[in-house]
Amino acid sequence: MFSDTHFHFHYLVEKNSPEFGAELLSKMADADVYFGMDIGTDSSDLLYRRKVVEDCLDRMDDDHRRKAEKFMYFSAGIWPDIDSIVNREECIKKLEEQIEAFKKKDGVFSGRLAAIGEGGLDHHWNPSGTDGRCKEDFNAAVYNGEAELFEMQLQLAKKMQLPFIVHSRDAYEDTLQCIKNSGYNNGIIHCYSYGLEEAKSFLDLGWYISLSGSVTYTKKSRMEDMKKLLSYIPDDRILLETDSPYLAPVPLRGNPNNPVFVRHTYEFVAGCRNVSTEELCVLADKNISALFNIPPAGL
Ligand SMILES: [Zn+2]
Repeated sequence: MFSDTHFHFHYLVEKNSPEFGAELLSKMADADVYFGMDIGTDSSDLLYRRKVVEDCLDRMDDDHRRKAEKFMYFSAGIWPDIDSIVNREECIKKLEEQIEAFKKKDGVFSGRLAAIGEGGLDHHWNPSGTDGRCKEDFNAAVYNGEAELFEMQLQLAKKMQLPFIVHSRDAYEDTLQCIKNSGYNNGIIHCYSYGLEEAKSFLDLGWYISLSGSVTYTKKSRMEDMKKLLSYIPDDRILLETDSPYLAPVPLRGNPNNPVFVRHTYEFVAGCRNVSTEELCVLADKNISALFNIPPAGL
């Protein structure tokens, strides 16, 4: 039920407290969540993120803890910020070191690195500068470096035979090109923000599409297009996520998001596809099991 394929757990804990994190994991356990993935964005954040989750688990009772240990998975990847683009060789090395150390470290999560990412291309320029980029950062050298960083991570995923979590904003053509260059079509186009034609291209190559709370922001005038898109995504390729702490779904838009709120996105998408929320949960969980190669829900 209500699996969330994409959230940034340490941001939630840093902004609140480990107690808040423990409470959140307990609520997810109470909702019988099958799968939750803590997503990496920095070459050296993997071990730290695991420690944040473990600290929260230490604050939970045995029953909730056991359930949370069962549903929590991790990815490791590099978001295309300017520093990581410039120092990409070094960052990939660091990422691989973190992955090795993660696997070697004893504990319940040693075998829980289930994806590479999020990585990809972001050509969105926010004039307020809140996403850390200024206009001068959008030049050929940065674009080429960013594509290279993306392709290096796709190669790493290919080598490790793990699915890849693609971040792609205002960069459809270039994203498709990098993916085609890599020859590796295994993973998720996360927080999907393009239209129907673009979705067809990704789906035809074998990618999964993951929908975040942003789909619930659709204006009335664009609702028919959104319904067409959401109904087009095949049953065996659809996933849902929060990308929390960002993008809280309607009716919670504007609040800090968290994985418990993913329910609202399931309800919205199920409504657009004319299925029940329960049916959509079952589909998503089946897809998660297939994509990440993990035991099906209920086992
Ligand atoms: Zn994210």
